[in-house]
Parts: sequence; structure tokens; C-alpha cells
Amino acid sequence: MNYPKSFQNLVEEFQKLPGVGIKTAERFAFSLLENSKESVEDFSKSILDMKNKIRSCKICGNLSETDICEICSNEKRNKNILCVVENIKTILPLEQSGIFNGVYHVLGGLISPMEGIGPENLNLNQILRRIKEEEISEIILALKPSIEGETTSLYLKEILKDLNVKVTRIAYGIPLGFDIEYIDTMTWQKAFEDRNQLI
Ligand SMILES: [Zn+2]
Repeated sequence: MNYPKSFQNLVEEFQKLPGVGIKTAERFAFSLLENSKESVEDFSKSILDMKNKIRSCKICGNLSETDICEICSNEKRNKNILCVVENIKTILPLEQSGIFNGVYHVLGGLISPMEGIGPENLNLNQILRRIKEEEISEIILALKPSIEGETTSLYLKEILKDLNVKVTRIAYGIPLGFDIEYIDTMTWQKAFEDRNQLI
């Protein structure tokens, strides 16, 4: 038996989400069917609302509902220390760990010749501009321990070497290839405390 078309459409939409197979997609759709109309309206409104409101911070590339994100506009943050991350997913766990009080810079990816991602595809010009215009004393590279992370760190080291700024890299007690956004607070703390100076 096939599901009615509208139900089937929703199941197919859910299946487009990462990690959602057909069984889970059907469970989600049944659950929404059983919920009140108001609650389903709230749910669909949240999806659109998120899509309409969220944008990238003009300074660091973090998620924000305003031009400048909460971290960049927070007076209490140390604007002299810049932590370079691959993507926005690293920022949340780092913020929750509470160990870093500087500001961020989101690269939007890592250099990967295999996937055809070169330095020109990353948010690198903005880092150079920030070093020139802001008073940055240290740049901490917090990229994942992988070939791509390593390649990107080396590239950054090269373009930053003559800019009179200290460059460090977080220490890796982190297993190779591990998804950096799942690292716990203790490991983050150790990675920051034991960071190594590159330049
Ligand atoms: Zn920002």
C-alpha cells in the first residue's frame, strides 16, 4: 500500500535530512499527524523563521540574526585573540565549554585537493583584513586533526608568517579523523591549554 500523496511527500522531505532513513521519516510524519494543528503550525513556522532570520556574521561568519553576531558584539570578549575554526558547528561546543573568551573566524571549509576545495574557496581574505584592521595578538588554529586540517594549518602558517602575529595550534589529544564538534569540555580545555606555537 502507498501512503496518501501528502503524507508520502512529507516522508520524502524528512528523508532528505542527514541520518534520517525511511523508518524514522515515517515516525516523524506519523507523530506530526497525531499532533494538534497548532503545534504543527508552530513547527512549520519555526523552520521558515529560522531560514528567514539566520545569516552569517559579517565579521566572523558565525550564525546570527543580526549583521554582527553576539560574540563579536560582546564588549567582554577579548578581541585580541582569534580562534580559527572550520565551520560554525565547532563554535557551539567551544562556547559551552566556556574555556575560550576571544573571538572566532569561520573558514567555511578546509583545503581539500581531493574535493577540489582550494584556499580561494575559504574565507581567508577576511582573516588578513582582520589582522590589519583589528589589534590581534594571537591566532589559534582549532582545525580538525585530518589531512585537510593539516593542509589548511600549513597554508595559514605560510600566509601569516610575515604579519607579526603569534600563531598557535590546539594540541591534539584528539583522535585522528575525529569529528571536532563532538569533543567534550575536558578535551577542549586540554587542547587549548597545551596549544603549540607555530609562529
Ligand atoms: Zn561574529
